[in-house]
Amino acid sequence: MSAAVAAGVAASEIAGFAGTSSVTAVPAAGRARVAYSSERGRARAEDLTVRFLGTGAADWKGPDDRGEHRRLTSILVDGSILVDLTSTDLDMLPKGARPRTIFYTHSHGDHYEPKAALQVGVTRVYVGETWLGKAREDFAAAAAESGVPAPEIVPLAIGQAVTVEDVTFTALPANHATGRIEEETLMYLIEKGEVGAAPVRVLYATDTGGIPARAARIAGIDAHVKGGRPVTGLIMEATMGMGAKGDEDFRIFTHSSVDTVKRTADVLLATKRLVAPEGQPVYITHMARTLHGTQAELDAQLPVPLRAAYDGLEVVFRPV
Ligand SMILES: [Zn+2]
Ligand SMILES: [Zn+2]
Repeated sequence: MSAAVAAGVAASEIAGFAGTSSVTAVPAAGRARVAYSSERGRARAEDLTVRFLGTGAADWKGPDDRGEHRRLTSILVDGSILVDLTSTDLDMLPKGARPRTIFYTHSHGDHYEPKAALQVGVTRVYVGETWLGKAREDFAAAAAESGVPAPEIVPLAIGQAVTVEDVTFTALPANHATGRIEEETLMYLIEKGEVGAAPVRVLYATDTGGIPARAARIAGIDAHVKGGRPVTGLIMEATMGMGAKGDEDFRIFTHSSVDTVKRTADVLLATKRLVAPEGQPVYITHMARTLHGTQAELDAQLPVPLRAAYDGLEVVFRPV
């Protein structure tokens, strides 16, 4: 068992969460059994599953001296669609998983490594249209080197929605920057279920300093807009730590702190733009090694409704 999973299971005993979706939760002594947990039980056809392959920011380089380990940030959606992937994440893919499609948030090396995508058999790649040329070049070079055919590279415009199997990804602008200043980095609204019914709508927000106004408008969660459309789940980056340590870090222009996520969640809940099943937390990911405590410390200290994801954690998002 890897250090990350071990850390997660240890944390689960403290927090009363299941370590992985396939493990039945054993509540800690003295704790009441929670009726519903997004981290327990099997997914039904209408549910959306998110497996966190990696939950660390770029400063993670394998297990550290605390025995903690976070791989670089990546998720696997419904067992078959990736959002970002690096070679650090490969051992967190479920056995037999052959994801064919990947959506990239941006071209930073802690999210984007063409060789890793080719290694798992990806044949279709979605990137922001502002860096299409770079992605085509990088993938052509990686494919030639790996001796495999180059995948199809598909550009995404802001607000554009793409449906893969029965999951729809909508590209949203993030508040982030890479060395290529013309690159507009993306976050994704991930939806499953019939439009007009009551689909699962999960906002996956990394890397970003807060939720940009345009992204909130497109997703329907800006309360300036009457009606709107609530999301049913939120996964947001909290690169920076808690308290002043988090909010006074130089990464403030391009990343979020725990307090940023807490404020965002509180506002979305108060304005009914986040309507989640009871017991489903707001998940934080992309945590910097030097700015966060251990998983056990996060489990003990994070304010409600925040919950730190960890590598290998699988979450079932249900419709409300
Ligand atoms: Zn990053
Ligand atoms: Zn980045």
